Amino acid sequence: TVEKPRALRIAVIPGDGIGQEVMPEGLACLRAAAARFNLDIELDEQFKDWATCDRYLRTGSMLPEGWKETLAPYDAIYFGAVGMPNLVPDHISLWGSLIQFRREFDQYISLRPCRLMPGIACPLANKKVGDIDFWVVRENTEGEYSSIGGKMFPGTDREVVIQETVMSRIGVDRVLKYAFDLAQSRPKKHLTSATKSNGISITMPYWDERCAEMAKGYQDVSVDKYHIDILTAWFVLRPELFDVVVGSNLFGDILSDLGPACTGSIGVAPSGNINPEGTWPSLFEPVHGSAPDIAGKGIANPVGMIWAGQMMLEHFGYKEAADIMMKAIETALESGGSQVITPDLGGAGTCQSLGGHIANLINKL
Ligand code: ATP
Ligand code: MG
Repeated sequence: TVEKPRALRIAVIPGDGIGQEVMPEGLACLRAAAARFNLDIELDEQFKDWATCDRYLRTGSMLPEGWKETLAPYDAIYFGAVGMPNLVPDHISLWGSLIQFRREFDQYISLRPCRLMPGIACPLANKKVGDIDFWVVRENTEGEYSSIGGKMFPGTDREVVIQETVMSRIGVDRVLKYAFDLAQSRPKKHLTSATKSNGISITMPYWDERCAEMAKGYQDVSVDKYHIDILTAWFVLRPELFDVVVGSNLFGDILSDLGPACTGSIGVAPSGNINPEGTWPSLFEPVHGSAPDIAGKGIANPVGMIWAGQMMLEHFGYKEAADIMMKAIETALESGGSQVITPDLGGAGTCQSLGGHIANLINKL
């Protein structure tokens, strides 16, 4: 976490679909937390049509010119969701907004909690609250997702395609350092590294080597490594093994979808795209997308959005407020009742009923 003495400046970008519906609930909860703990937080709502497909259809681009300069002074972007796949292909909407933020603001950490929450049916058998509680830290800028490579003899039977994996010492070390710091801050102080050095014989041994080197500076953190194939099996079979799990871009991508899926929480889980030094804004968003199938019905689960706000407060060191937000979310899921809980979790409530309930709890708990 980064200490910020001055006011936190947050750019609010709801985006498309249910992003527009869950955002007001996220903002209400952040405002409740800010009021209760007297936090100096500016939630700037001037970006209502940024990163929307409506804007793209009107103007031909997802973001206005000069977006980078405008957003750069903010500490963070509080982001809803983007995409209207029936009108605009994902490679345009996503690449024209979210991916731009990640790249231009060097958000080299993708961070996701995998925590079994009360009141949610876990897809894994016999798991109770407390059994699944770990973080996935994904390298978010290099690795397997490079665009270096090419095609020879295209369209012939001699066709050859190559795509390189890029690992830089700086790139590998900075994600490992973030993961070790996070592990060190937690009671278990345990770090698991995802590797595949038995099959990928150059880059993955390098990853292992840098991890072993980094571990020397964290004597109090216990470290183990698993090959990605068995690691995915352990996520499902024995998730209680994990505390902080770090992976390259590809492995981290897989694990950061699998982890939250093991907790049964598509509408519930949040995600951070983080520039740890605070040179550029970090971005906090729900894991879910714009969910066109339920958009406009008022039944989206707002917890992913609210929890993303909680993560944001925690990231900036507002621990007390973050703890109350977390407790409010857990209390609402556990005992909000079927009239409050949203249909995805088996209730008959609405986005507003659940969001409002959590905001009330933040005031009172
Ligand atoms: P994207 O490509 O933007 O991720 P998607 O359609 O692939 O969009 P989601 O938008 O996450 O993925 O939706 C996947 C499924 O989960 C949909 O059926 C959707 O209705 C459901 N879903 C997603 N988010 C929520 C939520 N907050 N509350 C209830 N259901 C949700
Ligand atoms: Mg999708």
